Amino acid sequence: MKTNLWENYAGEKRKDVEAFCGDYKEFLSKNKTERECVKFAVSEAEKNGFKNLKVLMESGKKLKAGDKVYAVNMDKNVMLCVIGKEPIEKGINIVGAHIDSPRLDLKAKPLYESQGFCMIDTHYYGGIKKYQWLAQPLALHGVVFRKDGSEETIVCGEGDDPVFAVSDLLPHLDRKPDPKDIKGEDLNLLGGNIGDAKAEKDRFKASILSILKTKNITEEDFFSAEIEVVPAGKARDCGLDRSMIIGYGHDDRVCAYTGLRALLETKKPEYTIVNLLVDKEEIGSVGATGMESKFFENTMAEIMNLCGEYNELALRRALTNSNTLSSDVTAAVDPTYTTAYNIDTDAHFARGISFNKFTGARGKSGANDANPEFIAKLRRCLDDAKVTYQATEMGKVDQGGGGTIAYIMAKYGMNVIDAGVPVLNMHAPWEIVSKVDVYETYRAYKAFYEMKA
Ligand code: MN
Ligand code: MN
Repeated sequence: MKTNLWENYAGEKRKDVEAFCGDYKEFLSKNKTERECVKFAVSEAEKNGFKNLKVLMESGKKLKAGDKVYAVNMDKNVMLCVIGKEPIEKGINIVGAHIDSPRLDLKAKPLYESQGFCMIDTHYYGGIKKYQWLAQPLALHGVVFRKDGSEETIVCGEGDDPVFAVSDLLPHLDRKPDPKDIKGEDLNLLGGNIGDAKAEKDRFKASILSILKTKNITEEDFFSAEIEVVPAGKARDCGLDRSMIIGYGHDDRVCAYTGLRALLETKKPEYTIVNLLVDKEEIGSVGATGMESKFFENTMAEIMNLCGEYNELALRRALTNSNTLSSDVTAAVDPTYTTAYNIDTDAHFARGISFNKFTGARGKSGANDANPEFIAKLRRCLDDAKVTYQATEMGKVDQGGGGTIAYIMAKYGMNVIDAGVPVLNMHAPWEIVSKVDVYETYRAYKAFYEMKA
């Protein structure tokens, strides 16, 4: 057995781990959508003296070393930046995570009636095992935009709110070969079953619509809405020794939170530093708020402009000279399902931040394979900061695989490696992490932001 990181955090030092993880649990409990995470990041940024890039652009105010800015993209993608002492052209140290998580989304026309129920139709988002979302309390988080442009924020299913559920067939009547084989179209929420006796037709839908009317929301408004179905309830300590946290969306909000906290606490860095929180990673990083969009590049151009450093060549050089930690979670060895893993080369709980030199599947296909020169530099940086880390892969060769935003950042010709927290039951409604890995990952990101050329 290799060393267990808890040994480094015995006695008094455990308090630091608990304090940090207490804040993290609160963040995770309250922020279950991209928009909620962006709002949180902006509020933390403003509390810490960061200025809105849009406002700075309008005023034409110049930026200098030590200045702090943030930029928001469509309320679902955000970037925080601290200007370094060195010119930006010399490169940026970037920690990039994603803030979208697997879930069910409401359809644009979600309400229908069946057997005396008003039902709510969903379309799942990201790689889920569908059966895991049945028969448990679910909450709705999201936004509705009315035709007049007014916005209604939706949070229903937390605290004493009513919750929602996708029903499941009882074992007595479920004799199909694989009871776990659930169809996407069968992920329907029970909306209610008090009919409106006065309604001429669709009385069960009518009674739900009349409740929505009290919020000034119509059936047509679902077309201009983004409502996510997520597990109801808070992140909690797990295990009798409280060594772990079970919560919704560790992938990848655990890396988002640790990267954000580390950046907020880094004053006057040598090189410019960026914390990038993107959307749509779980469905291929596409769309205007995903990593494939030009938001990051355009924002860096604007920041360089306000620093008086912008020209096309300087921007290209800045991006090429940069280093990125593609901060995403990886699979921790599961003590029950060991055969899916290579025990010697995969990530374990309580061994610190996990570095995947490459990801991909079928012979590294689709992988960003990090440069050893860069990894050597990282090892120096982390060892100097006394950070514990593990060099890992995700599962046995040819067992499966996965991807992150790493290959997209690598297109700029910069150095990129995947680095994040090991997770158990990834993509399940409730995922599990080790507290000590969360804390060590935060320490690793702090050291990386301060990394010299
Ligand atoms: Mn992820
Ligand atoms: Mn994922």
